[in-house]
Amino acid sequence: MKQIGFIGLGAMGNPMVRNLLKAGFPVTVYDVIPDRMQVLVSAGARAASGLSDVAVGSEVIITMLPNSPDVREVIVGAGGLVNHMKPGTVVIDMSTIEPRVAQEIAAILTGVQCVLLDAPVSRGVRGAEQGTLSIMVGGDRATFDECQDVLRAMGTDLFYIGGSGMGQVAKLVNNTMAMVNVVTMAEAMVMGMKSGADPEVLFRVVTHSSGDSYSLRDKFPHILDGRFQAGFTVDLAYKDLDLALRHSTHLLVPMAVTAVARELYGFARAEGDGGLDCRAVIRVLERAAGVQVRSRG
Ligand code: NAD
Repeated sequence: MKQIGFIGLGAMGNPMVRNLLKAGFPVTVYDVIPDRMQVLVSAGARAASGLSDVAVGSEVIITMLPNSPDVREVIVGAGGLVNHMKPGTVVIDMSTIEPRVAQEIAAILTGVQCVLLDAPVSRGVRGAEQGTLSIMVGGDRATFDECQDVLRAMGTDLFYIGGSGMGQVAKLVNNTMAMVNVVTMAEAMVMGMKSGADPEVLFRVVTHSSGDSYSLRDKFPHILDGRFQAGFTVDLAYKDLDLALRHSTHLLVPMAVTAVARELYGFARAEGDGGLDCRAVIRVLERAAGVQVRSRG
């Protein structure tokens, strides 16, 4: 079995490591928060003393970190993995970051005979826990094939998208659609509610009509019950739309609707709802309209 290193043991990283251990991989873990390593040591992982410790003993190193600057610092920063890895080491970055940053890091790793796959994921914490993540991969095709055993321990749907950065591009396409859809669903339902319609009736109508969507089915029943605990947070929705807009600016592709949606998540964050599920964006629209979309029952 390949020796795995895993860096970033948060909401996603913790259950992903557990699935690697269940599949029989030896895993060395590292996080700047020591308690996050200790809970995984109880599950069979080895705690590393630092990034160099992960680098020297691992054949495949997975990173699951908040954003582009964190991934850059951990892999190619002054004290980063690049200074300690053996030639031939594969780094699989499963965080969601800017495609251009993934490409920059991949080029640096090529210079030391190592390889980066960008492999962001979808289906959230539930998918991470159940080992049913959807994984979108960019980078060298042969390396992707060699790493399928590792990826299949965490996900059921693997997609090879293309060269370096293309996994991140696929992730941004997906999350732009999903997160804009939540905003559209929210504002249309606020309009319906303010008009006096029963939101449960509207839910039945739209799930049987052309406005139906994953966002509606996944998010709206919780809105009706007034449940906004995270899931996929407002902060992450803002982050991913912001990444899409940075990428589109670079490409000279206007994304007007995405820009408005990002700002609505920005209002939700400014009002203190950043840690709630992204469906809490409806609260911004409810406050503006002076109405609450809740079950009447
Ligand atoms: P998180 O904030 O819960 O976890 C990140 C972990 O990284 C934390 O434990 C933090 O201490 C650690 N960390 C930060 N900087 C570090 C460093 N320099 N060295 C070592 N450890 C460091 O985040 P998460 O929700 O697990 O998300 C991780 C990534 O996955 C993000 O890019 C996110 O966009 C993406 N993602 C998240 C979800 C979700 O539902 N949470 C879904 C899909 C994708």
